[in-house]
Amino acid sequence: MIELKGINKSYGNLRVLDDVSLSIGSNEIITIVGPSGAGKTTLLQIAGTLDRPDSGSVLYDGEDIARFNDRRLSAFRNRNIGFIFQFHQLLPEFTAQENVALPAMIAGESSRKAQKRAAELLDMLGLGDRLRHKPTQLSGGERQRAAIARALVNSPGVIFADEPTGSLDSRNRDEIRSAIADLRERLGQTFVIVTHDPSMTSIADRTVRMADGRILAEGEEGCDISVEISSPIC
Ligand code: ADP
Repeated sequence: MIELKGINKSYGNLRVLDDVSLSIGSNEIITIVGPSGAGKTTLLQIAGTLDRPDSGSVLYDGEDIARFNDRRLSAFRNRNIGFIFQFHQLLPEFTAQENVALPAMIAGESSRKAQKRAAELLDMLGLGDRLRHKPTQLSGGERQRAAIARALVNSPGVIFADEPTGSLDSRNRDEIRSAIADLRERLGQTFVIVTHDPSMTSIADRTVRMADGRILAEGEEGCDISVEISSPIC
């Protein structure tokens, strides 16, 4: 479904991604792990079309999105790709339901239909009684579940998540992990998740390990990801 081929990316003299290739299939949960600075977020942003590689190709169903101009790319992203970040990034002045409905309205859906879909998704994520709550009135886990509902609202082919449990305590981490596993079961949703949370890899079909801008081969020595990110053992 999504194919990254020979991706290279540098910032100045710093080679952040070095000939990275990755295939992402349908209904898959892939986790990407590795020490801080390995290039995980950069890879996620390039796969998610938020950033462009210096060279290499990003193919969605065989189509190279490098050919798209910025406007076409934004429209494509809005319809086909969902994002979940470490911090929920819900808009504080809007309710949970409005936050979830917004990307659907941006995609051209009527307000009524978008709000209905938002309510269904929030209900599916156990927030049926929180529709009119503003983000400050929700717990950390509830906010992140609302962010997942927002990522789902346009039925994207893939959701990219960057440390989705990174700012949560263990109870809320469990909640988010279960929600993601459940959505894959119920909707066949594909997730690509950058994580330092060892328990998140337990729901993955595949874990990709990165170090120094490269994807490590099976069995290749990398850093011990179970060690705190501030002091990885390499
Ligand atoms: P990870 O997610 O594995 O921690 P990142 O992809 O965030 O790694 O970053 C990889 C390297 O690229 C880091 O050394 C980081 O400082 C650098 N980097 C990331 N984004 C930028 C940027 N916009 N400008 C300059 N350097 C960057």
